[in-house]
Amino acid sequence: MSSYTRPFEIRTEETLRELSDTGQYKTLQMIQSPMDATIKIRSDDGRSREVLCFCSNNYLGLANDPQVVEAGIDGLRKYGAGTASVRFICGTFEPHEQLETTIAEYMGTESSYTFVSCWTATEAFFPTVCEAGDIIISDELNHACIIDAMRLTPVIKKGVLKGVYKHSDMNSLREKLREAASNDAVTGQIWVVTDGVFSMEGDIADLPGIRALCDEFNAMLVVDDSHGHGVMGRTGRGTHEHYGMIGRNEIGNVDVFTGTLGKALGGGAGGFVAGSRELTDLLVQRARPTLFSNALPVTVACSANKAIEILMDEPDRVLRLKNNVETAREKIGKAGFEVLDSPTAICPIIVGETADAIRMSKKLLDLGVFVIGFGFPVVPEGTARLRIQMSAAHTDEHIDALVDALKKL
Ligand SMILES: *Cc1c(COP(=O)(O)O)cnc(C)c1O
Repeated sequence: MSSYTRPFEIRTEETLRELSDTGQYKTLQMIQSPMDATIKIRSDDGRSREVLCFCSNNYLGLANDPQVVEAGIDGLRKYGAGTASVRFICGTFEPHEQLETTIAEYMGTESSYTFVSCWTATEAFFPTVCEAGDIIISDELNHACIIDAMRLTPVIKKGVLKGVYKHSDMNSLREKLREAASNDAVTGQIWVVTDGVFSMEGDIADLPGIRALCDEFNAMLVVDDSHGHGVMGRTGRGTHEHYGMIGRNEIGNVDVFTGTLGKALGGGAGGFVAGSRELTDLLVQRARPTLFSNALPVTVACSANKAIEILMDEPDRVLRLKNNVETAREKIGKAGFEVLDSPTAICPIIVGETADAIRMSKKLLDLGVFVIGFGFPVVPEGTARLRIQMSAAHTDEHIDALVDALKKL
C-alpha cells in the first residue's frame, strides 16, 4: 500500500510503476571516460567496462579532440568558470563574439547568435520573431523543441497561428500554405520550419521543394539542421550545402538556421540562430532567454569555436564519416538487417515492438556494443528501432565488431 497522500506523489508513483511494468523505464548509463569510438561505462556491479559507442552524436569525433579540449582549458584559464550574467548586462565575452563570427562564416550567413542549447535557441526564436497575424507551418516529424516553441509562441504573442504538414509531403505543405494565404486571420509573416535531417528516420528535408513553395507564398524558411551540421554536404556545412543552397545559387537560400553545438560541432553544448544581421540584432534586443538567462559558458564557446575551425580546415573528416556510413550500411545490410536508406549518419534498423528494441539493445551492450533502442512514444507504435549512429572516429574494425554483434542477435 502506498503511503502517499498528495496528488503529485500518488500519480508519480503510478507513472513510474507503469513505465517499469511495460519495459519503458529508462536507466541512465554512467560514462567514465571521454566520448569517443570506445568509451568506459559503469556496469551494474560497479566495475568499469569498455564498449564500442554507436549511439552518440559525436559525428566527427571532435568531442575529445585534444585541440578542442585545450581550447576549453585555455578559455577557463583566461576567463574563469562563470559568465555570472546574462548577455546584455555583463555576460558577453570576446569568445562569444569570436564563436558567432565563426558560425556565420561556417553557415554562410551574415550573422549568428548563440544560446545555451538549440532547444533554448528555438524557444527564443519563434516567440521573438513572430507577431499577431503570423503563422508557423511545421513538418509533423520536427524535433520536440520546435513543437514546444510553437506551443509557447501564441502564449507569449497572442494571435500567432500554427499549421502542421505531413512529413516531407510537398502537396500537404502547399495545401497548408494555400489555407494560410486565404485565411483572413493571417495578416503577417508565414514561417515554414523543418528539420534538415530528421533524427529518428535519418532522412532529409526536401529543401529545394520547400524553398520554391516558400517563394511562391512569400514565406520565410527556417531549418533546424542539428543533425546535418558537420555531416551533410561536401564540407559538412549542412543539408543546405548538400543541395547546393549556399552562396549564390539558382535554388535560393535558407532564411534562418537553428542548430546545436552539442552534436558534430562538438565542443560541448550550445545552440545558435544564424541568418541576417537584423534577425540576430532583434534576438539580442528582445529574445527572452538572452535577456533573462545566463550566456553560454565561455569555456564551451572556446571549445565549440575550435571544433568548427577544425571542421573548416579539415573537411576530410566529413569524407571519413561518409565512408564509414557507406561501409556500415552495406555490411549491416549484408548481415540481413533492413536499414532505412538515407545519406545521413543515422542508420535506423526497424525491429517493430518497443520491448524487442529494448531487449536487443541490452543484448548488444552485453556483447560490448552500445546502441540505443527507441520505441513508443518517441517513434510511432510498431516501428521501434535500433538507432545506429556513425562517427568519423570509428575504424573498420569497430564497424566489423558492430556487425558481428548484430549477427548474434
Ligand atoms: C538534438 C536536437 C536539438 C537539441 O539540441 P540541444 O542543443 O541539445 O538543445 C534540437 N533540434 C534538433 C533537430 C535536434 O536534433
